[in-house]
Amino acid sequence: AKADPLTNICFYDPALGEAVRESRALASDLRQAIESDQLTLHYQVQTSIGSGEIRGYEALLRWTHPERGNIPPSRFIPLAEANGLILQLGDWVLRRACLDAAAWPSHLKVAVNLSAIQLTHIALPQQIHQVLIETGLPPARLEIELTETALIKDKAQSLHIMRQIKALGVSIALDDFGTGYSSLDTLRTFPFDKIKLDKSFTDELKTDPRSLAVVRAVLTLARSLGIPVLAEGIETVEQLELLRIEHCDEGQGYLLGRPAPKDVVSQLGQRIEVG
Ligand code: C2E
Ligand code: CA
Ligand code: CA
Ligand code: CA
Repeated sequence: AKADPLTNICFYDPALGEAVRESRALASDLRQAIESDQLTLHYQVQTSIGSGEIRGYEALLRWTHPERGNIPPSRFIPLAEANGLILQLGDWVLRRACLDAAAWPSHLKVAVNLSAIQLTHIALPQQIHQVLIETGLPPARLEIELTETALIKDKAQSLHIMRQIKALGVSIALDDFGTGYSSLDTLRTFPFDKIKLDKSFTDELKTDPRSLAVVRAVLTLARSLGIPVLAEGIETVEQLELLRIEHCDEGQGYLLGRPAPKDVVSQLGQRIEVG
């Protein structure tokens, strides 16, 4: 129930109430989930497009709710961001991912997604440093994935935190590239080590000449900045072939491998041959 500011009379919108109640319930369940083993990380392979060599894996969070089953991150991450739980959740993900990766062959990297809220925390670089020490993972094997929206709230502070993270020897990738408001400004301002080209570009490559033109321009731009491009969401051999012709550096997507429990790392070997 909510008070009308004019009349001060409480009214009740059953539809709105239902959604709010459901979100609150889920948020409180999430608090429990962190403590009771309902969270796991799945890993999705990232490969060199030219050689098929496996470069590393992206950690993707999974929540198996005791009654509701699997809840997608697109549903619960925003909740965790709204109620502050994301800091605890983010810390759990970072620790788990670094711990898992420390047991992999030493040429493999692990990529971890960070939320915008985590990046506003001035203690983030220290926290990452701490996790690297505790898990024994060499900094060069950790990559942080950030979206543009994570950076634009307070540019100066974001830049400061980003530089501190890089000073640890950790690399940083720009996630979902091309979907934000100011992709070019972001590239100019922030010292990213990699561009992750959003899936929407990969989807249209084959069918839309304009998408292909934009992807070509991004690849040229990235090359002149000296940073590699990873294409997200590769689902077909045709997309992979086109990206190979365009000399895109790395790829990720269902065609190369779906996100799977950590055993996938020992099962996949060194290289993925497709097409
Ligand atoms: P993202 O970082 O852009 O991750 C890529 C998403 O695309 C993942 O969805 C992945 O499963 C999916 N995907 C990969 N290849 C393909 C493909 O070929 N086709 C299609 N249709 N989908 C593909 P997922 O795991 O549901 O994650 C969704 C989003 O949730 C992520 O988008 C990321 O923004 C967020 N997320 C996931 N794990 C974490 C986490 O640990 N921390 C934070 N802060 N966010 C996370
Ligand atoms: Ca990502
Ligand atoms: Ca992405
Ligand atoms: Ca995304």
